[in-house]
Amino acid sequence: MKRFVLPLILVLFVFGVYDRTFADKGRQYYEQAGQIIWEINTEEKVIALTFDDGPHRKYTTEILDLLKKHDAKATFFIVGANAEKNPEVVLRMYEEGHELANHTYSHKSRMSVPRLIQELKKTDETIYAITGYSSTLFRPVEGVYNDEIVEAVSKEGYQLVMWSWHLDTLDWKNPGVNKIVKFVLDGAKEGNVVLFHDGGGNRRQTVAALEKILPELKREGYTFITISDMMRMKEKNQNQDNQDKQIELPK
Ligand SMILES: [Zn+2]
Repeated sequence: MKRFVLPLILVLFVFGVYDRTFADKGRQYYEQAGQIIWEINTEEKVIALTFDDGPHRKYTTEILDLLKKHDAKATFFIVGANAEKNPEVVLRMYEEGHELANHTYSHKSRMSVPRLIQELKKTDETIYAITGYSSTLFRPVEGVYNDEIVEAVSKEGYQLVMWSWHLDTLDWKNPGVNKIVKFVLDGAKEGNVVLFHDGGGNRRQTVAALEKILPELKREGYTFITISDMMRMKEKNQNQDNQDKQIELPK
């Protein structure tokens, strides 16, 4: 009998933790509550390019050069520890009109909620010390979130940002430049959010892919905007929808 007790406790523990860790109200709820953004519905030809895990001295600098060349704005989800190592890259991002956002300090996965909040604040302080700018956008490590995280970060004034599910380039796996290019060009639509990585490893393929993606999407008529620009656009569209609805009301 005794030998069943430990497995039973383990099973109960695992399910208890599972339940607590993965409770998730679902995309529709979070989207309507404005707590998480994946992408927006719009007919305007806009795209948000996002970069995680940097800044990296070499790759982020090369990406900034390309963005400048093509008059594109992007959003960088910065790892605080990397920002400390490369303050001049962070300052350049800011000065060139890109959006600075938070991707924790250590980039450790599955940290406790109090630790997460502490790391977000530490990264914010680092970014603020370099630029004088306070960021409010947060992307969780590996995109992992649950109710507890969403509630806690919302309470601290952060907006959680994901990406368009069909535009996770998986560039960190180094799938080949042409594959990344084709993937983005085939998938990109109005209001989408693309996920790239500028740090955390060798990002030569990301840089080379961007060299082809940027001019091509530009040729197709797209403008590259930041996540905050996109959120403002979403708000404007919603207000417009509400106005239209009011006009349509029967008398
Ligand atoms: Zn990351």
